[in-house]
Amino acid sequence: MGTAARLGIGDDCAVLRPKAGYEVCVTTDFTLEERHFRRDWHPPESVGHRCLARGLSDLAAMGAEPMAVFLSLAVPARLPAKWVDRFLDGFLGLARKHRVALAGGDTAQSPAVSNQISKQGDGLILADVVAVGQVPRGKAVLRRGARVGDWIYCTGALGGAAAELASLAENSRRFGKITKAAAGHPHFYPEPRLAVGRRLRVLAHAMIDLSDGLSTDLTHLCKESGVAAVIDEAAVPVHSLAAGAENPLDLALHGGEDYELLFTAGRSARIPQKVAGVPIHRIGTICEARRRGPRIVLETRNRGRMPLEAGGYEHFRQVKSVGPRSLTTRLATPVPRLHLR
Ligand SMILES: [Mg+2]
Repeated sequence: MGTAARLGIGDDCAVLRPKAGYEVCVTTDFTLEERHFRRDWHPPESVGHRCLARGLSDLAAMGAEPMAVFLSLAVPARLPAKWVDRFLDGFLGLARKHRVALAGGDTAQSPAVSNQISKQGDGLILADVVAVGQVPRGKAVLRRGARVGDWIYCTGALGGAAAELASLAENSRRFGKITKAAAGHPHFYPEPRLAVGRRLRVLAHAMIDLSDGLSTDLTHLCKESGVAAVIDEAAVPVHSLAAGAENPLDLALHGGEDYELLFTAGRSARIPQKVAGVPIHRIGTICEARRRGPRIVLETRNRGRMPLEAGGYEHFRQVKSVGPRSLTTRLATPVPRLHLR
């Protein structure tokens, strides 16, 4: 267990102690079968990895260091114990890599549901992850800090997760054996950019992680900051998996779950070409928001300009909807971060 969790599993509560002068960031994410993964598509290791990666990526986007994570898991009665073991292998493998303790959680049996909802005819798997991080007081990088004239940057390459998901949907058998976290599988084993986020704490004005896609997440950042943006199409780094697809640019602009970081910084900031081994690309400029103007403009290769609408990523909502629409819509809404000051 890391030093941040003073007391973990086995007592009534975990006790966490942030470093002196630090404050605490908390994020929570639901991972739902048929919404975020499918039992017949995803190896359990990938499901465990992905549900933790989402939380750690949110911490990275604040410039926070992880302190502890918590996992509540509901599984149907007939689920083989092996599935949970393999899920935990994936979850704990990523936790170990980032030296973060699983400091508590809960397990329950999920209620049986009709065959219409669960193909297995029992219940659904639901995992809730709470990730707790720490950041020096007042230094968390927020979405609302972007300033007119800032340059816009992103880490890594975009569209790979959406491209891999598309080939998974085409041929789900091909991927059953990817049971180990491996680079080159951005959908199955995304890599939260914690080390990069920490380094950017002193350089970035505003930051967000790319969970819903560049167009959607940049819109969030611009709205929070009260600014607009111009993106240079030619500068957008397209992932090699997306490059072979029919619509590489669409995947890079709108594909979700890349978990790269999107940030802005002043023009005098010295942004390295690589941080912690991850390439950084300058992809655009923050500008003034116009009352009737588009929030984001895409400057195309032939010097044309077109509005870029938020065309985000909807997980599997198009495949199958679980539960009442209003509830699932609310669940899909990002939870606001709590800043304990
Ligand atoms: Mg986020």
